[in-house]
Amino acid sequence: MLTRVFSPVRIGSLRLPHRVVMGSMHLNLEHDPPALAAFYRERAEGGAGLIVTGGAGVDRAGAGSPEYLVLSEPGAWDALEPALHAVHQAGALLALQLFHAGRYAMGVTPVAPSAVFSRFSRQTPAAMTEEQIQQTIAAFAAAAATALRRGFDAVEVMGSEGYLINQFASPLTNLRDDAWGGDEDRRAAFPLAVLAAVRAAVGADFPVIVRTSGADFVDGSSTPEQSADLALRLAGGGADALNIGIGWHESSVPSVQSLVPHGMWLDIAGGIRRRIAQAGLDVPVIGSNRVNSLPLAEQALARGDVDLVSMSRPFLADARLVATSRDGDLDLVNECIACNQACIDRSLGVERVSCLVNPRAGRELEFPLLVRGPEPRSPRVAVVGAGPAGMQAAATLAATGAPVDLVEASDSIGGQFLLAGQVPGKEDYLATVRYFRHELARLGVRIRTGAAPSAADLADHAHVIVATGVRPRRVALPGAGALPVLDYQEAFAAPWRVGRRVAVIGAGGIAVDLAHLLVEGVGLGGPDGVQGRGGDHADSRTAERARFRREAGLDQPHAGAPAREITLLRRGRHIGEGIGPSTRWAVLQAIRIAGVRSRTGVEYRRITPDGLVVADADGVEEVIPADTIVVAAGQEPHAPLAAELAALGIPHTVIGGALDASGLNAVRAFEQGLRAGTAV
Ligand code: SF4
Repeated sequence: MLTRVFSPVRIGSLRLPHRVVMGSMHLNLEHDPPALAAFYRERAEGGAGLIVTGGAGVDRAGAGSPEYLVLSEPGAWDALEPALHAVHQAGALLALQLFHAGRYAMGVTPVAPSAVFSRFSRQTPAAMTEEQIQQTIAAFAAAAATALRRGFDAVEVMGSEGYLINQFASPLTNLRDDAWGGDEDRRAAFPLAVLAAVRAAVGADFPVIVRTSGADFVDGSSTPEQSADLALRLAGGGADALNIGIGWHESSVPSVQSLVPHGMWLDIAGGIRRRIAQAGLDVPVIGSNRVNSLPLAEQALARGDVDLVSMSRPFLADARLVATSRDGDLDLVNECIACNQACIDRSLGVERVSCLVNPRAGRELEFPLLVRGPEPRSPRVAVVGAGPAGMQAAATLAATGAPVDLVEASDSIGGQFLLAGQVPGKEDYLATVRYFRHELARLGVRIRTGAAPSAADLADHAHVIVATGVRPRRVALPGAGALPVLDYQEAFAAPWRVGRRVAVIGAGGIAVDLAHLLVEGVGLGGPDGVQGRGGDHADSRTAERARFRREAGLDQPHAGAPAREITLLRRGRHIGEGIGPSTRWAVLQAIRIAGVRSRTGVEYRRITPDGLVVADADGVEEVIPADTIVVAAGQEPHAPLAAELAALGIPHTVIGGALDASGLNAVRAFEQGLRAGTAV
């Protein structure tokens, strides 16, 4: 029961029907008003009550990149108008996020409280003059006043995640010794001055939300106690609600990656909420980061950590998240798996944001909602292979009214997501498989597993979509009989066949995932066993949080030796190539702290009873001690069915890894599934 989630709440003069705010996301759709409006309309129709726009720069220097709207320039307000109209037509509310990137701005000479180099923007900003500070405060106020006049329902002042207001509050980035810096009081002056100016511009009744940092997680920056002090001042300074952000772009502690356990940071919001209550203030607190389902929000509300939750990426993954949850169909919610591949990684560049598990996101006009007709619209279509591409194709086809047979050679649908779901911190991938299992059933797709059909078996189908995936690439080395050699699929399927000392040939995304799984000891106790350090059990929530804290560097690494000695080996120079930029550093940090070693720039020479012999660039040989060799050196398309179908003249389309195995790109696989499903 989600009774707390679906209880009304107030933010200032606004009355919201439930406790879920659709949080701000920069979409790279902002310069395409019809597409932006269609994106928000679908979320509003799907039950979002209050939506916060992506950050809009209050002036040019504050824009995060050239893709951002700039509220002080002509055109920005008109670009937002269709979105505002669409949200209101659907009965929801729209808050405009007022944004200034400070030293994180790209494409301009950034300004900031002090000239402190940013590892994120790779620039050193200019320290703001007094005149620039006053102009910036005025720009926030002017934007808020226009938002009120234009019919927005609220504004959110962006003051977390390491952007300008957060930079003023931080002793790391604010080195001033004037009215705006020098001690904690003066570092709070800019955030409070912006809030006061915004409040003065909009009056007492217009809701002003402030997103403020609960924890910066950057060495030398504000402590969580200092962040809570500032939050308290903002609550007393006129904010109608506080939305608590976690981490900076330069943080060494992961805050939004799949490694981060669900709801990991909500207790930080809870601490701030308790301090606000102790101060006798009535300012609701909104918690965020790694809240990907409404049952999780319900738990946080029950604990008293938050008054509302802000969910952003989950609305990319499923526009009807709120409506479907309210109807009790939780198995039909397509959950965000925190992969970041089609959203955060794209928002850092210029590509349109979408969602790996929901490729329609951001393309609502290109792929209008598929509405099933009263009668089947065509003869049966077969989809062979039930990995990401096949599942998406089958669901898309069925949604158009086509009768669909989905045929899978293995015992279960899910393909590579079943492997990924075993990896520590990637358990959410199994939620995607759960979703498709239920969605395909809802759509009437006939699923047959444990069957590898021939082309002749499919002759009565009007069209066949071949989504048979990939096979691991083989690597032939002298001495292969000296030690057990497994490919990555075999190692994932039967980790108990992997010994205690493992040399992994290859160090891309799959190899890194496999190393993370094996180093935890999965399979060492037999087919159902885990022999981790200190008796850890991967399915324990407490152990999951403890492991994350160790792997994020928040606690000391485990004293014991790793459950397995793993060495990742690579001919090239980089480990984890192909993992998205917002995730790669966190995963590499996690496996390094967990004890996985790596070697790059090596040639594989031969296998001996003692391990794998490699040579460096000078030809100097070395034995990597191992009792098992695992090959994770890429994959190749597997589509023998396509040639058979062609020989029989059966119309067919090849998609996903069966078409192109390079990089084993799940974003591409889901997109091709969507396109094939609408094209047939
Ligand atoms: Fe979530 Fe990944 Fe989709 Fe982003 S791309 S919304 S992280 S599932």
